[in-house]
Amino acid sequence: MDYTRRQKSLAAELRRSRLPALIITHLSNVRYLCGFTGSAGVLLVIAGERKPRLTFFTDGRYTSQAAAEVRGAKVVIASKPALAEACAAAQRAPVKRIGFEADHLSYTGYRLLSSMTRTKASLVPVAGLVENLRSIKDADEIEQIRAAVLLGSSLFPAVLSAIRPGVAESVVAGELELQARRAGAEGMSFDTIVAAGARSALPHGRASVQPIPGNGFIILDYGVILAGYCSDMTRTVHLGPVSKAHRNMYQAVLEAQLAAIEAVQPGVESGEVDRAGREILKKAGYGAWFTHSTGHGVGIEVHEQPRLAKGQTQKLEPGMVVTIEPGVYMPEEGGVRIEDMVLVTESGHEVLTPTTKELITL
Ligand code: ZN
Ligand code: ZN
Repeated sequence: MDYTRRQKSLAAELRRSRLPALIITHLSNVRYLCGFTGSAGVLLVIAGERKPRLTFFTDGRYTSQAAAEVRGAKVVIASKPALAEACAAAQRAPVKRIGFEADHLSYTGYRLLSSMTRTKASLVPVAGLVENLRSIKDADEIEQIRAAVLLGSSLFPAVLSAIRPGVAESVVAGELELQARRAGAEGMSFDTIVAAGARSALPHGRASVQPIPGNGFIILDYGVILAGYCSDMTRTVHLGPVSKAHRNMYQAVLEAQLAAIEAVQPGVESGEVDRAGREILKKAGYGAWFTHSTGHGVGIEVHEQPRLAKGQTQKLEPGMVVTIEPGVYMPEEGGVRIEDMVLVTESGHEVLTPTTKELITL
């Protein structure tokens, strides 16, 4: 991973925003910028005139881990809270404005910062700055993401073979998660979704202890983490004979998904991608039951920038990795969602998820 390039890009961004210092408390951002994978630490970035200066503060539990992992930043094992030490160091810089991550600082943390800076510097809330850099993946990241996606897809047959009427959704999820670990995953990207029968109408139906009924859709939405990068995929399969209504519903979601994928191009507004799929579901009469947005970026976190939602004007750029996941959810009846991960390329897009989207009946 090219941490130097990331650190330079952030410093350039800070200079543009006339922000000489930024305190980074969001661990995914810390990891992205200096490689630390532990669960406690704060990164201080001083933009500098030409070269950024980074200091990473953590506690005694992470002495060896920080020494082994952190790149391009001085490591300080703090005796006070890491946030307080980072703030004190920023003031020694000395800087008049100190940025902090508005979405990733507790009220207590904010009070600590303001009590330390009151007379010396002003605090500037910053939102999405590192996240924007992270939305465009570099070659190393794309390689990691590809590997995570392939690992996730390779588990799909194991999921299918665990599905039987009467088996609890949570048992199917457990089987999948065991196989994922065996295949080398560090963990799952999020709580596995196995939603069968009427529960498939819940867009976020985490695997429950409910037994799988003998007939109906089953939504399987899961992802694995491999070398710090997430995958995310959804397939919907059907148990028992498929009614005409269910077949139509599946077909409409598949067409919407393909149309949204087709719309993925550099320079296209993310809202346009959402519109492409939504139009198809509207025309097929399912518009009212597509109740969420079309997709999201994926990387170190499973939900990242950009958002692919109604009215979003952010333009897609080569190197973005997004999900395309329209769905239809009809209460009592059931639901269908199909989700792939898609890379935005210079000339268009590449679907990363290789798993078939033909309706599978079990
Ligand atoms: Zn998903
Ligand atoms: Zn997703």
